[in-house]
Amino acid sequence: MDTARLLEKQRTYFRSGATKSVEFRIHQLQTLKKLLSEHEDELFEAVYADFKKPELETYATELGILHNEISYTIRNLKNWAKPKRLKGTWINFPSSNYTIAEPYGAVLVIAPWNYPIQLALLPLVGAIAAGNTVVVKPSELTPHTTSVLSRLMSKWFKEEFIAIVEGGVETNQALLSEDFDHIFFTGSSRVGKIVMEAASKNLTPVTLELGGKSPCIVDDTADLETAAKRIAWGKFLNAGQTCVAPDYIMVKASVKDKFLEYLKESIRSFYGVNAKLSPDYPRIVNEDHFGRLVSYLSDGEIYYGGKTDQEECYIEPTILTDIKERAPVMEEEIFGPIVPIITFNDIGEAIDLINSKPKPLALYVFTREKETEDRIVEKCSFGSGAVNDVVAHLGNHHLPFGGVGKSGMGAYHGKKSFDTFSHFKGIMKKPLWLDIPFRYAPYKGKLKWIKKILK
Ligand code: NAD
Repeated sequence: MDTARLLEKQRTYFRSGATKSVEFRIHQLQTLKKLLSEHEDELFEAVYADFKKPELETYATELGILHNEISYTIRNLKNWAKPKRLKGTWINFPSSNYTIAEPYGAVLVIAPWNYPIQLALLPLVGAIAAGNTVVVKPSELTPHTTSVLSRLMSKWFKEEFIAIVEGGVETNQALLSEDFDHIFFTGSSRVGKIVMEAASKNLTPVTLELGGKSPCIVDDTADLETAAKRIAWGKFLNAGQTCVAPDYIMVKASVKDKFLEYLKESIRSFYGVNAKLSPDYPRIVNEDHFGRLVSYLSDGEIYYGGKTDQEECYIEPTILTDIKERAPVMEEEIFGPIVPIITFNDIGEAIDLINSKPKPLALYVFTREKETEDRIVEKCSFGSGAVNDVVAHLGNHHLPFGGVGKSGMGAYHGKKSFDTFSHFKGIMKKPLWLDIPFRYAPYKGKLKWIKKILK
């Protein structure tokens, strides 16, 4: 792939102004929606071939989210793209002031493997809506999905507007050495640093959607049965390979046993006693990740699960208790179907533990006490989160989605996606009928007037 030639082609297309009209953008979004509908079965099959993800999950967490986002964007785009009037200030009286949302130009989207359709195409929706041309680099770890995406997109869209580039680390490095106008990266913190370093060479702005350890707190006032059910759903969805999955659970010591019973029951009710036979339970994406996850199994006592099958990259939904001190499972992002359980006696202990670690992408708390909820939300910094639920906040496009600190920078979803891929150009227009002379030399006697206005 000649990345320089591809970028030049997209730049020329962008400069032609073809992507600028709102009608063009809406038409492209409609085309994307049509593609997703017409090729739904192919996409289901590809994701299943990559890691046995069931159709319902592929629809709910990938295609459905995309349809919803596209429809919402189409409905609102005319309004978002209009110039916005803003107030003037006395120092510039009289003037009219407004912002114009202009596209950055040629943008690069780099995606991870865990939601291989959604995480490649959801940023694309925002980039199209804002009027950019886009190069998308999906993950090489889900080869079936990446290959189907590449084939379909190249059939439905012109390369000078949207190009899917297949490849691994080397391809990414080649893309990162080019002078894109914005880079939107979703992936690990480790690669996030590489992306930011490469972007700094060209002063390219970046959005970094990274990962980390998202905590989940369950206190003694929580509805334990519902909490267990919702946590089991969010943790074992996609076999735990979700950036906002609850990474570890902190449960009040006095309700630990009861909560663990419910958690075990929930796992069994979802996947049966042998999750390997369940058509609804996916596999780990590859042997490297499988090996990494298996090594966590000896970091504590296995309360439930623990069975593995290397040939199938299968890991049973697993609950770990009595975690060893400084165990890797509590230091690294787990990103798989293993959940360590930590106990606390006072909510302050839980807050201190969270605040001793890098700011997480998500945080969840199950409680009936408003005071506990407020204390956690106020004292802990995190990307986004939920009270009495996990993961589901992602399905609300009115909420911005993104990390903070080590879990990322920038956000997207809904209107925020449009903003992320736009530059808001501020313009002041002055009439000629009045020209107050304060600013012009000679300054003698004018300072007191300036002080009256700028105070
Ligand atoms: P990754 O960082 O390994 O890979 C992401 C992308 O970067 C891939 O396209 C890959 O080809 C590329 N890449 C890998 N190594 C590279 C290198 N050395 N130089 C340049 N490019 C390179 O991430 P992953 O394993 O695909 O995904 C898992 C991670 O992504 C987890 O940390 C997870 O939390 C995070 N994630 C975050 C979000 C979010 O929205 N914040 C969503 C999904 C996943």
